[in-house]
Amino acid sequence: MRLFNTMTKEVEDFVPFFEGNVSMYCCGPTVYDSTHLGHLRKYTMDDVLRRTLQFMGYKVKHVMNITDVGHLTDDADMGEDKLEKGARRSGKTVWEVAEYYTQIFHESMQAMNVLPPHIECKATDHIPDMIALIKELERKGYTYTTEQAVYFDVTKFARYTELSGQKLADKKTAVRDEVVEDPQKKHPADFSLWFKRVGRFADHTMHWPSPWGDGFPGWHIECSAMSMRYLGPHIDIHTGGIDHIPVHHTNEIAQSEAATDKHPFVKYWVHHNFLHVEGEKMSKSLGNFITIDDIKRKGFHPMALRLLFLQTHYRQQMNFTWSALAGVQKTYEKLNTILSKATPTYHDAQNISRIFHEALADDLNTPRALAEIFALLDEGKYNHVSAALDILGITTESKPEEPIPEHIVRLAQERAQAKKTKDFARADELRERIEQQGYRIQDASDHRFRLVKKT
Ligand code: AMP
Ligand code: ZN
Repeated sequence: MRLFNTMTKEVEDFVPFFEGNVSMYCCGPTVYDSTHLGHLRKYTMDDVLRRTLQFMGYKVKHVMNITDVGHLTDDADMGEDKLEKGARRSGKTVWEVAEYYTQIFHESMQAMNVLPPHIECKATDHIPDMIALIKELERKGYTYTTEQAVYFDVTKFARYTELSGQKLADKKTAVRDEVVEDPQKKHPADFSLWFKRVGRFADHTMHWPSPWGDGFPGWHIECSAMSMRYLGPHIDIHTGGIDHIPVHHTNEIAQSEAATDKHPFVKYWVHHNFLHVEGEKMSKSLGNFITIDDIKRKGFHPMALRLLFLQTHYRQQMNFTWSALAGVQKTYEKLNTILSKATPTYHDAQNISRIFHEALADDLNTPRALAEIFALLDEGKYNHVSAALDILGITTESKPEEPIPEHIVRLAQERAQAKKTKDFARADELRERIEQQGYRIQDASDHRFRLVKKT
């Protein structure tokens, strides 16, 4: 297996710390909003990496966190807590927001046939681990405390810019209106390990006692603390989106290696490129924020989406278009018909063409692996095709879910409108009509909703 390592900027031979075993930590979602197409792509590609390693005979231990506290609206220390913001927007408590969006994340992953991690850990369940880690950093002289927070002093860690390749002098504070900077912070790149419940965070809902006063942890410390707890001081593979390179992962390395004196914290850094929609960045304001429910509601199968993701290499930016998905859906339906009678055996999986193996071993070259699958299809080797799709996590036997009927969607939209104008009697009446017709409506924030068929 060969993998591109962001640390060395090279495709390297993959040699884990312990022969035959792979420890893999994947940065998880911040559960303050719905899982979108960008997340679906990222976690699907993590899943393809895991399945490929397993197929190659490695025993993989896969750990992923759920960020339910501490991630500010800026990856550095500016802005407000995303969970608190989500709660204010939806009128739910922060705990309810976290639970609600964690469930949506799980449902989205299930739809995409993403294997659940062996360990999924919530930040709020690991506060003592984080406090212990900060204490260790403090003991070793890597921190300083101001009236507002405990900071990691980046000038004390020589390898700080190794991953990003940036110059420390170039790390400036963002100049934006909402930026709130601590005047006692020594270097713009110093980052918070612990926020005190003072100043802009005086009313922060989630807070815990600590040696530095009541407060809550910074975002980066959670991944250091939890990866260490479950995988030890050395990890084979750590994944995340490319946005994590300059701040989040840079900070994770500094904290982890400073605390344990062990180098390297991570042997292979794997970063996924971003997904854009119809040529634009995905965002709520542009109205192109797409979820798995949107995909299903338009009658597409999540496995067609998985197939579409695999057509782009994970290090390439991907441009999602509805027309491309429509094309792949046709291919997927064809596969479904052809393969309905295929009965691949273990033997078939072992005998899949050398080219397919080589493609996956070559830094997870999924576009080439798919091309090989289509070549096998042309040759009529259906059992091999079926086995190969199985390795990539594409199931063909399941029937596409029935899309929600248009008139039900319309009723739900009408209800959202009624709620917006505070006509709650009308909203209740519409909910009842929807329920009578066999569907249930679940409210999300910003007057968004989900429809599910009653079982
Ligand atoms: P978040 O919930 O924002 O912390 O993101 C969870 C993971 O999804 C991170 O590894 C992000 O880098 C990744 N991610 C977020 N947005 C996108 C996107 N548009 N395309 C690909 N990956 C994304
Ligand atoms: Zn992380």
